[in-house]
Amino acid sequence: MTRPHPAPTVAPIARRGVCLVISAPSGAGKSTIANALRASEPALTHSISVTTRKPRPGERDGVHYHFREMSEFERMAEGGELLEWATVFGRGYGTPRQPVEDALAAGRDMVFDIDWQGHRLIRAALPQDVVSLFVLPPSLAELERRLCSRAADDPEEIARRMQAARDEISHWAEFDHVIVNAELDTAIGQARAVLNAARLITRRQTGLADVVAGFGA
Ligand code: 5GP
Repeated sequence: MTRPHPAPTVAPIARRGVCLVISAPSGAGKSTIANALRASEPALTHSISVTTRKPRPGERDGVHYHFREMSEFERMAEGGELLEWATVFGRGYGTPRQPVEDALAAGRDMVFDIDWQGHRLIRAALPQDVVSLFVLPPSLAELERRLCSRAADDPEEIARRMQAARDEISHWAEFDHVIVNAELDTAIGQARAVLNAARLITRRQTGLADVVAGFGA
């Protein structure tokens, strides 16, 4: 009888972290997808944005967002503390710079739940690190149904978000990958496949040169 060889113990190879940017119109399910990725991989870091909008019921400062006054937001933007920032629905949203730089250098992957403007800016700031994914709802009618079922948003807010959804969707072709979230588990599996492929991109394998040198190649 042949015994299976024990798996060799190999130290993890150093690599730079991935910035997985997920954008979608509000209601397409991007937060659910991002949360599912993080639930299955606790080491995956979520970029916590700064915003000047008020917390919705259940949202906590420092968990869902850093909720700040406009004056503080402007101070952070002017002081270079934000990697990117944009105004959405008349409110400021931005990505704190330091946690991103620390995570990438330490080889930790990050997920960003930001809009198309943020995607453009973060791609310009970190061109080697960003891999992006756009999530489409199955139809505009289904998007409206999902937005209406969110109790926290009033009818005016829903109408505003429907228009914003059309604007957001018009930028879908700027993204590296696109998925249609008709069935949640399928969409989560597809997002996971994108993240795993991004991890294997050759230029990210900063520690692999030493391993390859060991092959005499
Ligand atoms: P919500 O108010 O529904 O949480 O977010 C509104 C929009 O702002 C969403 O499209 C969301 O992706 C976007 N957003 C959230 N954080 C950021 C950020 O840090 N930067 C940018 N550019 N957009 C963000």
